[in-house]
Formats: sequence, structure tokens, C-alpha cells
Amino acid sequence: MRILKLGGSVVTEKDKPFTPNTPNIERLAREVAASLPAPMVIVHGGGSYGHPVAKHYKISEGYKTPSQLIGFSKTHQAMVQLNKMIVDAMLDVGVPAFGLSPSSFIVTESRRITELDASNIKRYLGAGLIPVLYGDAVLDTQQGFSILSGDQIVMRLAASLKASRIVFGSDVDGVYTADPKLVKEARLIPRLSLKELDGMVKIGEALNTDVTGGMLGKVREAAEAVAAGVEVILVNAGVAGRVEAALCGEKVMGTVLTR
Ligand code: ADP
Repeated sequence: MRILKLGGSVVTEKDKPFTPNTPNIERLAREVAASLPAPMVIVHGGGSYGHPVAKHYKISEGYKTPSQLIGFSKTHQAMVQLNKMIVDAMLDVGVPAFGLSPSSFIVTESRRITELDASNIKRYLGAGLIPVLYGDAVLDTQQGFSILSGDQIVMRLAASLKASRIVFGSDVDGVYTADPKLVKEARLIPRLSLKELDGMVKIGEALNTDVTGGMLGKVREAAEAVAAGVEVILVNAGVAGRVEAALCGEKVMGTVLTR
């Protein structure tokens, strides 16, 4: 059982609202096709679809005014739209993908998942389908509603489905000593242990940078799965072949998280 996370930075043009990265989506669909038939779940991010809408209506801050309800639904709709394109691309290359809305089976409390009913996902997997989920607008028992990241979904699903490997596909080669887009001297870290990871998150928190989102957010979410023995690898999904190699368990450029 494998879980593939496709970052919003990969499946969309992050700086152009409502713009898919169609070449990436089509290529990644082929890479997924080449890695079959082992069972897998795909989770994708929001990129330029969910994020601008969620931000405009302040969905992640929770319910404050009735006018946000339209925004809550619009955020979800934006994600449904992106999900449709990704699922369609998978179907075109023979991947039996099936889009499922996280908001229909996940509830959060203060933005953390408290309810996740994986029974239906297991049935879809049992039928031979490949569920394709996404970061979504979800109901939250404490603040009314919230935005749930694909990264958090991946981690909770990994536990529920007893995944053996998680592949994070993002727009950088893996975890670096600093944000490679901001720091020219940043170096790629090929292997990162839980202890080193903890140190990095603390540094991030101290500098007040990139604590909840970005790469450190991912890595922090991943810690629990790594501790439970799941293989976690972060690769550049923008480079042809890396996601396929990582899915197949081949050696590939990226960052492997280790206990
Ligand atoms: P995605 O949309 O793929 O889920 P995010 O944009 O949330 O990805 O996170 C990936 C981004 O995190 C990278 O594009 C990079 O700019 C940033 N980042 C910040 N710190 C680091 C780091 N130490 N190593 C790698 N990337 C980092």
C-alpha cells in the first residue's frame, strides 16, 4: 500500500489563479500508470485552485459570518474542479482513479483531524480503484469549518491503511538545509532522521519561518508515520521519472526520512 502526495505546486501554476499545470498532470498520470498494479491512494494539494478562494473568505480562521458559507463551498468546488482534471488525466492513461471528497468523511477539531472514516476508501481499494483525494474545506467541531491540508490527510490515512511507503512529490528536490528558493547555498539532505528532523522544526519555529506550511510542515506531519515504520521519501515531482522511481522503491534523488 502506497500513498502519493502531489503538491499543489506541481499540479497547478501556483502564482496564476485557477491554472492547472497540465503537462505535469499528464506526465504524472503516466508515471502512476507505470507503477501499477500495487494498491495506492493519491492525495493532491490545492495550489492556485483552493488556496486563493480559501484565503479570500478566511476559511481556515473558521466561521465568523454567514457570508463565508459561500466561500466554504466555493473552496471545495475549486478543489473538485482540480480533482476532476487530475482524475480525468489518470483515466486517459488507464489508471482506474476515483475522486473522493475528504470533506465527506473527515472532521477536524481546531484544524486537526479527529474523525476519519477510512472504511469506504478501503472498499474502493478492495475493488481495485485508486482513490484520489485532496486538501479540502472541512467541518471543524471547534471553529465551524477549516482548511485541511493534503499533507495531514496523507499522514492519517497512512496509519489507517497501514501504508508501507509515502511519496511526497513537490517542486524541489527534497528537504534542504534551508529553503532552496531563498537561500542559494542550501544543500539537499539525502537522509534525515527523526532526531535531526526535530532539530530542524525547532530552528524553523525559532526563526518563525515555514512552521505550518512548506517543507517543514510536511516533514513535521510525516514524523509520526516515520516513527511507526512507514518509509517516507520526498522527491521533485517536476522532474520526469522521480515519482515513478520513488513509487517503485527504486533509488532516486530526494530525501528519505528515517527513524
Ligand atoms: P507543495 O505545494 O508541493 O505541497 P509547499 O509549497 O507546501 O509544497 O512546500 C514546498 C516548498 O517549501 C518548496 O517549494 C520550498 O520553497 C519550501 N521550503 C521551505 N523550506 C524548505 C527546506 N528546508 N527544504 C525544501 N523546501 C523548503
